[in-house]
Parts: sequence; C-alpha cells; structure tokens
Amino acid sequence: MDTVHPVGTLSGPLPMRVEGDRAYGPGIYDMKGGNSIAFSALVHLHATGQRPKLPVTVMMIPDEEIGSPFSRPYIEVEAKKHAIVLVVEPSGDFGRVTIARHGIARYNVKTTGVPAHAGAYHSKGRSAIREMARQILAIEAMTDYDRNVTLNVGIIHGGTHENMVPLSCEAIVYCLVPLPEHEAEVRAKLLALTAVDPDVKLEVSPGLYRPSFVKSPAIQRLYDHTAKLAHEIGYPVKGERVAGGGSDGNFTGALGVPTLDGLGVLGDGPHTHQEYLLVSCLVPRTKLLMRLFETLDASFGSR
Ligand SMILES: [Zn+2]
Repeated sequence: MDTVHPVGTLSGPLPMRVEGDRAYGPGIYDMKGGNSIAFSALVHLHATGQRPKLPVTVMMIPDEEIGSPFSRPYIEVEAKKHAIVLVVEPSGDFGRVTIARHGIARYNVKTTGVPAHAGAYHSKGRSAIREMARQILAIEAMTDYDRNVTLNVGIIHGGTHENMVPLSCEAIVYCLVPLPEHEAEVRAKLLALTAVDPDVKLEVSPGLYRPSFVKSPAIQRLYDHTAKLAHEIGYPVKGERVAGGGSDGNFTGALGVPTLDGLGVLGDGPHTHQEYLLVSCLVPRTKLLMRLFETLDASFGSR
C-alpha cells in the first residue's frame, strides 16, 4: 500500500487524472492498481455465488518500498500456511508475468570528519561530505552490467551549515544482486572500503536483504496455467520475466512456496512523475485473478 512518492505528490507533480487509456497517479501502477484488482476479484467471485477453491488470505503490506522490515515475519508466517502465493506487483513490459526476482541488498555508509569553521579555520577541518563523495564514486564503480550487479547511492544526507566543514555524512546504497554469491561478493567489497583521508572515519553496515527467488517446476506450472487462463479471457500474458526490483515475493519464493508475481496491472513509469496504468487492463486482469482463485487447487502447491 505504500509508495515511494512523498506526501504532496498527488496535489503537486502527479495529480490523479485519466487521459485516453492512461490513468495517472502516485502508486497507481506500483502497486495500488494490483491491490485494487485482487480485492475486486474476490468481491466479484463472492457476488456471483462462487468461492475460491482454496482459502485465500489477502495481505496489504504498508512498508514494502523500504524492504518490508516490519511485515516480513507476518508475510512468512502466512506464506507457510498457504499452498501458493500470488503477488499483484505490476506486470512488466505491458503484460509479462514475474517468475523470478533478483536479490536486493541495502547498505548504510557513514563518514565522520573533523568539524571546523569554514572561513577562519578551514584547513583544520576534515570534510565528511568530501570523503563520502569519493566513496560514492568507488561504490558505484562496482556496478557490473554484464552480470546484472548494480549499486546505486539513492539517498545522501550530510552537513548542518554551509559555513562549517561537515562533521558527518550518511548514504544508503541499494544493490541489485541476482544471486546469493553476488551478495557475498558485494558485501566483501563494501566492507573492505577504507577512507581516503586518514583523519575521516568510514563505517559501512549491511541493511535489509531480500534474497533472490528463482523459477521452480511448481512456478512453471503456475505460469503455464495462468497463461492458458489469460488466453481464454482474450487478454494474453506476454511471457515470463525475471524482475530486477525486489518484492515481498522474494521472501515467499525463497521459502520455497510456489510464488507467481507481477499479476497486477499494466502500465509504466513506476517511481516517477509519469506513473500510469492502462484502464483497458483492469477488467481482464481482474478476471484473470478471479479465474486463478476459482481454479488453483492444492496440486499447484506441491513443492
Ligand atoms: Zn515500487
């Protein structure tokens, strides 16, 4: 239910509006649209006197974009009680279904310098921001597109006054690590970083880690069944996809519970001010979830 958009986005750069087949709004594609169709599918199923074949629990997660630090234990407990997990994160590439996800790791980096009056005593200061700037270049240089390993410094805070050599600076690194061995490699490199300026202290500490989930035979069966249903509805899926970003599907997939992800809405521009969903996908994608609820039985949950 959370989005990366700060409060004020709706009244500012990304107002809710419909233009042709596109409905724009913060989080509409990633992933409020998915939450909405999952809930609607169950409501419609009940309204027509039908019931899902297996008991369905709908989880609405409020802290997913920051790595689900509070929800993770609840997600894992529920996942173990259920045969299958369906994730209504947005569909990728206008219709693909997510059958695997890379791992995501976060790291906190902190530099502590020596403060000084930036006018009178500049030479006595050791800038935490200057040190961080050097570290950022070193960290982002660890990116290896050939292996899909990427490191992004997405947040940085430092300094208190412009007339002061800054005492401290903090940054958060978001790493795409397709496999556990990539995570181990990135971890070793980040923890081995040393300060360029010997008078500045550098600390690197691991944050949240979402392990990768990979396609199993059970996920293949789930995908094939979903593709068949989508074809019958007349709104076919456009193939399988290994997604770069993490989701709560990483937790359930890594537990070994057959997980199919990316069953939400079609659209584009997640995490940007151009975020939209395709209005024309809402009915067929809701039908697809209804049909999954109607047809998935315990045989799809065998691991
Ligand atoms: Zn997101």
